[in-house]
Amino acid sequence: MKVLVLNCGSSSIKYQVFDMRTEEVLAKGLIERVGIEGSRIKHQNMRAEELKQDVSVPNHKVGVKLLLDLLVDETHGVLKSLDEIVAVGHRVVHGGEAFARSVIVSKEVLDAVEDCVPLAPLHNPANLMGIRAMMDTLPNVPQVAVFDTAFHQTMPPHAYMFGLPYRCYKEYKVRRYGFHGTSHYYVANRAAEMLGRPVEDLKIVTCHLGNGSSLTAVDGGKSVDTSLGFGTVPGVIMGTRSGDLDPTAILYIMEQEGLDSKAMSHILHKESGLLGLTGISSDLRDVEAAAESQNERALLAIEMLAYGVRKYIGAYAAAMGGLDAIVFTAGIGENSDVIRAKACEGLAFLGAKLDSNKNKVRGKEAFISTDDSKVAILVVPTNEELVIARDTWALVSDAAR
Ligand code: ADP
Repeated sequence: MKVLVLNCGSSSIKYQVFDMRTEEVLAKGLIERVGIEGSRIKHQNMRAEELKQDVSVPNHKVGVKLLLDLLVDETHGVLKSLDEIVAVGHRVVHGGEAFARSVIVSKEVLDAVEDCVPLAPLHNPANLMGIRAMMDTLPNVPQVAVFDTAFHQTMPPHAYMFGLPYRCYKEYKVRRYGFHGTSHYYVANRAAEMLGRPVEDLKIVTCHLGNGSSLTAVDGGKSVDTSLGFGTVPGVIMGTRSGDLDPTAILYIMEQEGLDSKAMSHILHKESGLLGLTGISSDLRDVEAAAESQNERALLAIEMLAYGVRKYIGAYAAAMGGLDAIVFTAGIGENSDVIRAKACEGLAFLGAKLDSNKNKVRGKEAFISTDDSKVAILVVPTNEELVIARDTWALVSDAAR
């Protein structure tokens, strides 16, 4: 009953092995710099010492073979044989409009994921490489695809359409898709459990704030709006991405600097956000440290991020016609009491009051609202791998019935 979870980036492979009887993580690891000089693996089982090794990993297939060998290794392994793996669950970034839930991989599924490559040109090819490498190496083990976009397929058209000519949607599939769906799904459901209420009865705003960030309005357990869109730039400011801005500003900058779309894309994705505003770092910890020394641009960036979060919470409360809970997750959401406190400032009119003492928590599940707050405010560490493992296990158990 072991499920392997794989998250392949263009130059990385992250993995975890779950025992689905207990949902315990037996081993996890990361292969970095796949296909680049200087690749290395970090592998940890929960008994032996962590293994760190420089290895040659010219492609994903070699990486997959390497991690599978480690899983049955005498010292570092956790399996007697690879036959113990009942299924592999893959994180897939973009499922377009084709996938509203996780699926067992078939030829048709691979073709549909391939069709979504133009929508996620950096991510889907890497995800596909991981799936194909696993299919080649473990041909008798079912593979399951779990999509970052799937949870948001419940958004109504008035939330996902843009005010562009309709043909842009019909011909090029330009619309809001949203990302981080697995995380929003997990923390919304976990918050409902913590509140002891069915998720179907709750209106929740989930704030996934990391290097990449998005907020989602989760009404009755379903995503009804989300701040990332067609791509991964809109919403609140992020580590290196701009967040919301007026599209005409983009056109103007391109004209002023004579930039093509590739150069402008680099600015929007890699040179903006916390990094671009402060000139210091994309990492909020560095920005917070600079703000403590009264660096003006660091103070501004923090204010902008918190203001963005507050604005989306208000907008989504209005979109849902009420609010029962606000959930903070991911690197910033789980750790930064500064951003959480500033984001919740002035939300008392909605019934949301933060308790500054309880807010001191880092990286663990907690209620951080005051006892008399009508809206619960929570910190819930995300666990996308667990959702992938559960979906994978559920699909293969169903198929076996
Ligand atoms: P990713 O989107 O890459 O998964 P994470 O969810 O790991 O990113 O979030 C990374 C962000 O979390 C960084 O901006 C980092 O500064 C921030 N972060 C992590 N720990 C803390 C902390 N203790 N205080 C403030 N910010 C933190």
